[in-house]
Amino acid sequence: MKCVRPCPTGAVDHYFDLARPYSIDDQLLWIELPSELSVQAASEAGNSESSRGSQIAPVSASTPLNRYSRENPARAIVSSNTRVTGETAENDVRLVIFEFDETPFDFIEGQSVGVIPPGLDANGQPHAMRLYSVACPRDGEKPNAGNMSLAIKRIVWRDGLDREVRGVASNWLCDLRPGDAVDIVGPFGTDFLVPDDPDADLLMICTGTGAAPFRGFAHRRRRMWPNAGGKLMLIYGARTMEDLPFSQTLQKYTQAEFRRELAFSRAIAGDRQYVQDRLRMCAPEILWLLRRPKSHMYICGLKGLEDGVDEALIDITRTHGINWLAFKSEMHVAGRYHVEVY
Ligand code: NAP
Repeated sequence: MKCVRPCPTGAVDHYFDLARPYSIDDQLLWIELPSELSVQAASEAGNSESSRGSQIAPVSASTPLNRYSRENPARAIVSSNTRVTGETAENDVRLVIFEFDETPFDFIEGQSVGVIPPGLDANGQPHAMRLYSVACPRDGEKPNAGNMSLAIKRIVWRDGLDREVRGVASNWLCDLRPGDAVDIVGPFGTDFLVPDDPDADLLMICTGTGAAPFRGFAHRRRRMWPNAGGKLMLIYGARTMEDLPFSQTLQKYTQAEFRRELAFSRAIAGDRQYVQDRLRMCAPEILWLLRRPKSHMYICGLKGLEDGVDEALIDITRTHGINWLAFKSEMHVAGRYHVEVY
């Protein structure tokens, strides 16, 4: 049977409580599912799973992993390629949408996929695979149409002789046109995932295209649980507003449903603002969020970002008698601290 989206495996997104466990042999005889118990009745029946009172699938149960390899990739067709930084911005960042058509390519928010640029490298070998975070929710950029989006920044720099050098993968991806075919590998990633829990509070800190997975988190929350109790807070850094990817997408959210603080490092001469400065400015709110029992913290972006965030959080928590590094370590052990930096 074909998978029913948005469940990536076709089986695990809907949980309910039963009075007793059933063997596989029992299950193979089912014509209809057994009836669902109320949490209280299930608890009285002594069902240990249900006695926790949770009907939320653990995130790991629905994590598709490495279904497509370099040797056996999924073929995707580009359906659109849109610039998501301002026209005058230095950064050219693109949101590229891929359609999988009949190839079922399942993923969940926070996972990455691999792409392999066509052709050979300077040593005559096939190019290395490049990883990009999925930028949409698991049911796709357009819901339930077998599609996926990636955020790609065009990389251009000057070499020692002042000649322009263009990154192979990023320029190939940024120049893709609708109808072009791309082989996709993966998905990858088991750590940078979001709990399937509308009450989880998410503190997300990123720079530039590091916002890609958080776009997926926010869209998922809005589609699945528009009245969720959990808070979404984004601390997002870029050089200028024009350089900030997805600024138009962010405007579609109210601050109440998706709280965000933006830090611009080159918008005003002599006033460099970084995400760590925003953290300090929002110290009471950040502390409140981190102390919530279901809070998760995510850092995504440039290498070095985590060090600056640590420095800010050491300062913020010290005044409240908290040792940030110990606190962070506890969050990490509990699976509530997640980092992805390149
Ligand atoms: P960028 O636009 O070049 O820079 C964003 C901002 O970060 C700038 O304001 C910059 O300040 C600031 N910054 C630089 N170093 C910092 C530090 N140590 N701490 C805090 N802020 C710092 O960013 P980008 O090139 O898009 O970088 C995004 C990163 O995310 C890349 O490393 C990328 O590989 C990674 N990433 C990408 C994806 C994806 O799917 N595309 C997914 C996950 C992660 P200045 O003005 O001082 O430079």
